[in-house]
Amino acid sequence: MIRIETPRALAAIVLFLVATAAADAQRIPSDALPKALRAEVERVRKLPKKAAALRLPVIVRAVRALADAHPKVAFGLAKWVAKTDPNYGPGQVAFAELALANKRKADATKAAKRALETATDDASRVAAARLLGETLDPALPELERIEGDGPALVLVAMGDVDVLLLKAVRERMQKWIHMPVVVQGGGVALPMSERNPWLSELDGFRRALEGAWDAGASEAARACGADRSDLQRDQVVARVYRAWLVAKEDWRGLSEFEAGMRTKFRPAWIADTMTRELASHIGAYARDGVRYVGITAGDMISTRSQRSVLGWGGANLGVASYAQFSPDVREEKPDWEKLVVRLTKQALCTSAEVLQLGRCRTSSCPMHLGRFPTFERFDRKRAQPCPNCEMKLQLAK
Ligand SMILES: [Zn+2]
Repeated sequence: MIRIETPRALAAIVLFLVATAAADAQRIPSDALPKALRAEVERVRKLPKKAAALRLPVIVRAVRALADAHPKVAFGLAKWVAKTDPNYGPGQVAFAELALANKRKADATKAAKRALETATDDASRVAAARLLGETLDPALPELERIEGDGPALVLVAMGDVDVLLLKAVRERMQKWIHMPVVVQGGGVALPMSERNPWLSELDGFRRALEGAWDAGASEAARACGADRSDLQRDQVVARVYRAWLVAKEDWRGLSEFEAGMRTKFRPAWIADTMTRELASHIGAYARDGVRYVGITAGDMISTRSQRSVLGWGGANLGVASYAQFSPDVREEKPDWEKLVVRLTKQALCTSAEVLQLGRCRTSSCPMHLGRFPTFERFDRKRAQPCPNCEMKLQLAK
């Protein structure tokens, strides 16, 4: 234990503590932000840490709004965001950018690296990589016919998918699959979900948008590349509603909406609906020897067991879902590498069905299909196919 020798030392320590706290929670000058946004920042900062952590997207918007005219205040706020949830990618990125603007290069590098280790969303990964002098490309090619007549495996993004994740998985799969593995699917949407714990709220958002279909609402939809008829789809409703709240500068509404997205937005589809949906999208591009594995962030449910499944499909076509790998669902710390490994294992497993490789009896093999699969058993599978499956993959046509 440290013994405090003199009152002066004690005073110095108190002053130091006060100064540190002040730097973290620097007051925002009253003219620096629009009144409603400033009020929301103050409100969220007073919430318990866990509740505040769910409402950080609005605070990051405030950080960005402050960045140019008040870089020091913005830095203080970004620091608070990064501390409130060190695993929130957009928060780490905002902190890294502000650290750089305030000539704290080491802090910036550290935060950017942390964002790359944890963030799964494309925007955070692209920005973090840029800070480290790297370029990542989140563009997704359209669904189109594969040239030539050789065999190929196409990974199709279904709905809103993290494209960089899809590309990382493709790269790892290519190690084991001896035919071209390509990524496609820009614009392949999902229909309205069949289950979503947030369904009634989403309906409320939909009705609010439809009821107030003014210039603001249609502008928000246009900014999301959607129109009124697209409001039947969960992911689109959520995107448009968010844009609409931003346009209206309803920051408190946006905070609560973002918290709901994190905790309750879990769209799910019956697995057969997913495969049917994929089949209807690829119909025009299909040809002999080309197999399709849809990748989705939406949850899939087996009609028979009523439980979530990670993959579904049969000959030529299947779907793999990474909904169950979400750190919010698993209540785990976000981990990019872990996510890539898990989705690669599942995509390999679905590919084995699509390529009709036959049943694998080795339970540690990613291609193994257990009779009573549990997530724990899935997690114990290795990333590398067993020698038998490896050979089958070499022969697959
Ligand atoms: Zn195997």
